[in-house]
Amino acid sequence: MTATWTNWSGSVECRPAQQLEPASEEEVADAVRSAARENRTVRVWGSGHSFVPLCASDDVLVSLDRVAGIESVDAEQGEATILAGSKLHDLGEPLARHGLALENQGDVDVQSLAGAVSTGTHGTGRALGSLSTQVVALRMITGNGTLLEVTPADDDLLAASRVSLGALGVLTAIRLRLVPAYRLHERVWQEPIDTCLSRLDERIAATRHYEFFWYPRTGLAHGKALEPTDAAPDDMRGVEGERIDHSYNVFPTVRENRFNEMEYALPADEGPECFAAIRELMRTRHADVTWPVEYRTVAADGIDLSPACGRPTVAISIHQAAQLEHRAFFADAEPIFLAHGGRPHWGKMHSLRAPDLARLYPRWDHFCRVRDRLDPGGTFLNKHLRGLFVNRG
Ligand SMILES: Cc1cc2nc3c(=O)[nH]c(=O)nc-3n(C[C@H](O)[C@H](O)[C@H](O)COP(=O)(O)OP(=O)(O)OC[C@H]3O[C@@H](n4cnc5c(N)ncnc54)[C@H](O)[C@@H]3O)c2cc1C
Repeated sequence: MTATWTNWSGSVECRPAQQLEPASEEEVADAVRSAARENRTVRVWGSGHSFVPLCASDDVLVSLDRVAGIESVDAEQGEATILAGSKLHDLGEPLARHGLALENQGDVDVQSLAGAVSTGTHGTGRALGSLSTQVVALRMITGNGTLLEVTPADDDLLAASRVSLGALGVLTAIRLRLVPAYRLHERVWQEPIDTCLSRLDERIAATRHYEFFWYPRTGLAHGKALEPTDAAPDDMRGVEGERIDHSYNVFPTVRENRFNEMEYALPADEGPECFAAIRELMRTRHADVTWPVEYRTVAADGIDLSPACGRPTVAISIHQAAQLEHRAFFADAEPIFLAHGGRPHWGKMHSLRAPDLARLYPRWDHFCRVRDRLDPGGTFLNKHLRGLFVNRG
């Protein structure tokens, strides 16, 4: 047995028999081949920022920290091939040197590229899809240890592999569609939640990236709006609640306090009513929870396991401090999300299993067929993933 592995929030712990840090695609393939031969399970972890046991392994646990860096850039095409273990915070400056940037980012940038892509990690913006929608090609080591290149022409495989929870193979390189480097003008403000809700549609429509956090104890919404700008950082120096900087410096925040989280992706029209129901739940049954509720938007896509598959989406997240009990609150909130047509964020807490998920995802069977083909022996299935993909009902 090697050392205990724990995720960021402390909600998942495992003691893998073997922890590996391959330094190349070939070494990844060797590790998968020998595990498959011995009927051992392989799980990969990136930064361990998922709240559910996606990465947990009693057998082999692999880190791709040494398979990191930018492999190649095609500035003219606006694309870069990036090794899968790269951390998002290591991409901003090198891409900017080529005049390129990620189109959108989430709240933090500590995730690995492969981890973020594999769970459909997203930021906010009505017209902007998750990071997975930016994937145009990739390489992975499949269940029998062979290298598979998924090219831009492989629509079928791309639809399955852009969000795959590490259940199809170990991603080793990801080619991303990028945009010309840009600066963002950030505005943050506070206002009563009812004022925020009365202007919600208008702000979502008018802003490239709009989101709010509602703090139940104060009743205030903390709004954030980001717009691309040609203005210089100095133009906003000293202005309260505003700043201008490179996009990759503006998107991420630093999360010093650990928490657990549940997030559901809803059809966009359901967002306001679902938020109202969660607000009522927190007023009546969980008034002790002081952590905020986050409200974001994501564009529709056609990725098999993307929570935004086939529909413009509102993502609502609830939180509780990592050291406090979250189960009763999340268990009460989940039926509300489901009643509004919600699909869970793959990296965040939920209780759904194969039969429930199959009903929520129009392309579920397609993903499962690809999974059976690329990993027929179940090398990548731990207990959590078996619950998601086996016994489909
Ligand atoms: C503080 C915090 C902030 C967050 N903010 C956001 C946000 O703004 N938006 C959002 O959508 N989510 C957010 N999340 C969720 C987070 O982005 C996802 O859980 C993401 O998967 C974490 O990336 P990771 O590198 O830590 O992946 P891990 O949790 O380590 O792994 C996630 C999944 O990816 C798989 N994986 C990792 N590497 C590989 C590989 N090389 N090949 C194949 N599979 C692989 C793992 O097996 C696992 O299934 C946040 C989480 C935290 C803790």
